[in-house]
Amino acid sequence: MAGKVYLVGAGPGDIELITVKGLNCLKSADVVIYDSLINNRLLAYAKDGAEKIFAGKRAGNHTLPQEEINELLVNKAKENKIVARLKGGDPFVFGRGGEEALCLRENNIEFEVVPGVTSAVAGAAYAGIPVTQRGISQSLHIINGHNLQEADFEILAKLSGTLVFLMGMSKLENICSNLIKYGKHPETPFAIVSNATGSNQKTLTGTLADIKQSETPAIIVVGEVVNLRGQAKWFEGKPLFGRNIVVTRARHQNQELIQMIEQAGGHAIEFPTIEIQPIEVELPDIKQYDWLIFTSTNGVELFFNKLRDIRDLSRVKICAIGDSTSECIKKYHIQPDFMPDEFVSEALINGLRDKIKPGDKVLLPKAEKTRSIIPDELKKISAQVDELVLYRTALPAYDIELLKDADSVCFMSPSSVKNFPDEWNNLKAYCIGPITAEAAKEAEFKEVIAAGEYTVNGLMEKLYEA
Ligand code: SAH
Repeated sequence: MAGKVYLVGAGPGDIELITVKGLNCLKSADVVIYDSLINNRLLAYAKDGAEKIFAGKRAGNHTLPQEEINELLVNKAKENKIVARLKGGDPFVFGRGGEEALCLRENNIEFEVVPGVTSAVAGAAYAGIPVTQRGISQSLHIINGHNLQEADFEILAKLSGTLVFLMGMSKLENICSNLIKYGKHPETPFAIVSNATGSNQKTLTGTLADIKQSETPAIIVVGEVVNLRGQAKWFEGKPLFGRNIVVTRARHQNQELIQMIEQAGGHAIEFPTIEIQPIEVELPDIKQYDWLIFTSTNGVELFFNKLRDIRDLSRVKICAIGDSTSECIKKYHIQPDFMPDEFVSEALINGLRDKIKPGDKVLLPKAEKTRSIIPDELKKISAQVDELVLYRTALPAYDIELLKDADSVCFMSPSSVKNFPDEWNNLKAYCIGPITAEAAKEAEFKEVIAAGEYTVNGLMEKLYEA
């Protein structure tokens, strides 16, 4: 087996703008070497145990020099590793991917290039600016704005197509004044799109004569096509655009909500306040039970991971509390026998009283130290209840810095509220159900909104409202 390097374009920021091929490379790589402009959430797709090496520039720190990156690529490949070199946008558009390819060739290392969606085109598109348009602009010029000389402007100012400058923000004034000096009309429309394709995207428009400063990273678009934005703007009108929403579930369960928030144009801040730690325990003989009551998706997943033969369940009735628990059971091709109308434990008890007979044996997979209302109530009707503690929830280490731009937080359980840092109770708290909402009120959140329907969709509906 020989090592190989994939030079992969990761796209401009929106995580879904990586290509299928790029994502497949990332998933199969032993080593991922990534830059600062990529969406860091992509790293979660690397396989377990993959080595992740940051090779970019962060405020204050210096970039790993290009020679060292080259050397790293060569060395890892020589160790027979599959390397994914993840770069923002497209690897060959001002990404120094070309240099890396040449270096790999020189060292006889096999490589492939996976082109990516460049910020030069996607940034404009997400601002509602088509980079070319019949009758308006017949060409697209992508320019490194950093080191332009007057002689360059002489040429650039004569081009009639769309000009897109990358790495140009520190030279913004110089770019605009020289374009005018060498012949562009001062009224030529221009736009700056910063943090393009992210929910913190900002678009400023004006003319060459009235430049504005903006955040970075940003692209500068010059040309008549900028005027089309008035009609073609779309991304910035999405329902959650501009919102920064904290998602607190355990990391492996967060993805659905994060994806929904981002597809609605919002920025999801992953801040798990719970970590699921499975407990080493053997399943009892399942065949002896009449009922199995699941109260969480964690319980379902850990139970089925341990179950050796699904036929052991053939005469066991199954109860699910909550839509997501029920959906999770259905993934194992089992239709729950009973789902209480309301997903809180009290409603379940009333429902179960009709179904469970005195003397029935009930198994209750659960987390360590959780509310004991279900076994207590079932014992009252003389059912035999065995609790099966499958996991405990622990507090993960977290980084408060992540919360600084947040406006809202989503809670899916009372314990996720309890573990959330107190001093952040000025955020709007969106809660999956009434018990969680109660916990948020107790934690003195100023504004507590409970989902009407106790599901992720119900929560999203509330997020859309404000
Ligand atoms: N290979 C990258 C470009 C790398 S050069 C690509 O194809 O997109 C870095 C420059 O890209 C930045 O200075 C900025 O001008 C631009 N850029 C990259 N990501 C951006 C983003 N999300 N929003 C705006 N500009 C971005």
